[in-house]
Amino acid sequence: MTEYPRAGERLRMVEHQIAARGIKHPRILAAMQQIPRHIFIPPPHDRSAYDDSPLPIGNGQTISQPYIVAVMTELLDPKPEDRILEIGAGSGYQAAILAMLAAEVISIERIPAVAALARSNLETLGITNAKVIVADGTLGHPPDSPYNGIIITAATPQIPKPLLDQLDDGGQLVAPVGDRDIQELVRIKNSGGRFVETHHGSVRFVPLIGEYGWEGGNA
Ligand code: SAH
Repeated sequence: MTEYPRAGERLRMVEHQIAARGIKHPRILAAMQQIPRHIFIPPPHDRSAYDDSPLPIGNGQTISQPYIVAVMTELLDPKPEDRILEIGAGSGYQAAILAMLAAEVISIERIPAVAALARSNLETLGITNAKVIVADGTLGHPPDSPYNGIIITAATPQIPKPLLDQLDDGGQLVAPVGDRDIQELVRIKNSGGRFVETHHGSVRFVPLIGEYGWEGGNA
C-alpha cells in the first residue's frame, strides 16, 4: 500500500485526536492513517491539515474535523460489502475514508466546483469505488438504492424523508440534526421498517441546503 507524505503527522493525529478519544475500531484507525488528509485541503490551509479542526476548502465550505469524521464513521459502522450514500461530498475526505471500509460509495454534492474538487482528489489517490454526483442530496439517489448506510455531512433541520425511504432494512443513517448553529449527532437504524434513533453529542456543520434541508441564500 502506498505510504503518502506526512505519515508522521497523520500518526500523531490518529493517536492523539482519535484513538485517545475512544475510537478503537482498527479498520477506521488504519484508514485515517492511510488517507492523506492534506490532499483534500487547498493551499494555504493544507499546511494545517493534521490539526484538530475543520478547515476551509473554498466556496464557503469546510472539510470536517478528523475526530468528527472518525465518530461518524464509527456510528455508521460500514462493512466491506456495503453500499454507502454520503450527502455533502465537500472535497471528498469522508468519501475516501468510507471507500476504504465499504464496497461502494456514492457521494452527492450540490456545488459543482466542490464536486469537481472531490472527484479530482479521489482520482489522485486512485480511489475507484467512490463516485461523486452533483445534485440535491436531500432527495437521495434512488437509482443505486437501497443503501446499507447513509451519512449526511451537513446540518439538517430534520432527516429528509427520501433518505429514510432509501435506507435498507438493517441499515443505518448518521446525521447532524438541529438548527443552523448547533446540531446533535443522530443515528437512525432501520429495523424492519421501524426507525430506532439514538443521540451522540453536539456538533457544528455547514447547512444542508435543499428541498428537505434549509433554504439557500447566505450559505
Ligand atoms: N463530507 C465532507 C464535509 C462536507 S461539508 C468532508 O469529508 O470533509 C458539507 C458539504 O455539503 C458542502 O460541500 C456543501 O456544499 C454540501 N451540501 C449542502 N447541502 C447539500 C445538498 N442538499 N446536497 C448535496 N450536498 C450539499
